[in-house]
Amino acid sequence: MTVVQLQFTALDEISKVHERLRKTFESGITRPLQYRRTQLLQIAHFIQDNWKAIEDAIISDYGRSRSEMSELKTVFDHAIHAAQDLEEWSKPEKPKVEDWLAGWDPTIYPTPKGTVLIISPWNAPYFTTFSPLIGAMAAGCTALIKPSELCPATSQLLADLFPKYFDSNAYAVVNGAVAEATRLLELKWDHILYTGAPKVARIVAAAAAKHLTPLTLELGGKCPVLIDDDVDIDLVAKRVLYGKQFIAGQACISPDYVLVPPGKMETLIAAFKKYYSTFWPKGPLNEGYSRIIAPHHHARLKNMLEHTKGDIVLGGEIEGSERIAPTIVKNVPLDDILMEEEIFGPILPLIQVSGMEEALNIVKELSSPLAIYVFTNSEKLKETLLNSTASGALCFNDTLSHAGVRELPFGGIGESGYGCHGGKYSFDTFTHRRSYANVPPAGEPFMAMRYPPCKDEVYQALTAPTRAEIPKPW
Ligand code: NAD
Repeated sequence: MTVVQLQFTALDEISKVHERLRKTFESGITRPLQYRRTQLLQIAHFIQDNWKAIEDAIISDYGRSRSEMSELKTVFDHAIHAAQDLEEWSKPEKPKVEDWLAGWDPTIYPTPKGTVLIISPWNAPYFTTFSPLIGAMAAGCTALIKPSELCPATSQLLADLFPKYFDSNAYAVVNGAVAEATRLLELKWDHILYTGAPKVARIVAAAAAKHLTPLTLELGGKCPVLIDDDVDIDLVAKRVLYGKQFIAGQACISPDYVLVPPGKMETLIAAFKKYYSTFWPKGPLNEGYSRIIAPHHHARLKNMLEHTKGDIVLGGEIEGSERIAPTIVKNVPLDDILMEEEIFGPILPLIQVSGMEEALNIVKELSSPLAIYVFTNSEKLKETLLNSTASGALCFNDTLSHAGVRELPFGGIGESGYGCHGGKYSFDTFTHRRSYANVPPAGEPFMAMRYPPCKDEVYQALTAPTRAEIPKPW
């Protein structure tokens, strides 16, 4: 395996790139729909022409299996659909107004916000970079991408290929780590979309606040799995293990912990064992299963396994400073190290609960995650979850798959972030809805009453509605 050296962008180059993108936006070149559509379809060409190179780079970065490249298809589909739907999305809206206002032609114009910054992480580099970029392009913005330094092959490939596919005056890549990101954040952007860890998100939010820049934060959190009494435990084990092993548990929507109802623990563990040997007949470390991205994350996960009060019932193998087998731990108490923060790795704690009420209380007690997974056949329970918990998404009877629905927004709430992207939601993120009214001079006789000095009859007319009866709640 060759380790790619990522070429960092020179610090004094960064403000020049920003200036170039800003000038391009101001020139108006990115506004016509034809231009936007051409750039969007270039994303599809980018993916189609370079699929193998993209896969190879991701595999070189963290050994991900070729079967886990679904994000490339997602990006491809999103780009094509955005190009197709663009005209509809950008149509001015005519709101329904009172009759006397119709002559003002009240209209809402979707307008591009300007020059935007997209900072992405290493773990789903195409989805987290291109899903926002598609929105920025569709909206008519210019955009700068800052990919993660932790996936050097991927980030270098993006920098190499971008100028070949996109208008370099409008879309650019800056590579680097904290120093480069800090320099980027000193500049004034018209929107920032940051995907990554909550600790860094606070730095990004403080920098954005200095310029009053609108911000979208796509973060992570502890996504729980709840299990009802009447479900097929075999299917639960298969779907949860699949979700957990995806990129070795290093996805923002990985199932983080499982709340197991009374009497189901041993059946669940037996089912996990069955699927463990079906998924990896030679053991996960001998097959196409992701590495842990960086030594410091490997050390963090190893430390968790060394200090958990729970019992490892499956997995636990640790290899070098890169690999950890999917590991299932039972008898995990709530004050365990595994429950302190997002695990973001292939360790799955099983927590025994007395029933659904306790499971719900635990979920409500912890900060709101990006997804809650619930295995149930009960419509009543689905409603309870909808009405009494908070999370970016609620997915019943599976893990991860809600993220594949293009029409659903992808985003968090509270500690898992704010704002969203995906399909039309990406377009909306980078679009300002500009109000328009054209008040005809011919209305002057009617409008004349508003001018000072205040006349009593005008005041009476103005306040009359507030003395009328307010409708009863219905
Ligand atoms: P990270 O926060 O370490 O890095 C993300 C980006 O931030 C990188 O481009 C990095 O260079 C940049 N960065 C790092 N330090 C910075 C600083 N001081 N100032 C400005 N930028 C800085 O995140 P990561 O380890 O790459 O990703 C893991 C986290 O991301 C997890 O918490 C995961 O749940 C979350 N995540 C969320 C989503 C989502 O869509 N909600 C998707 C993937 C990952």
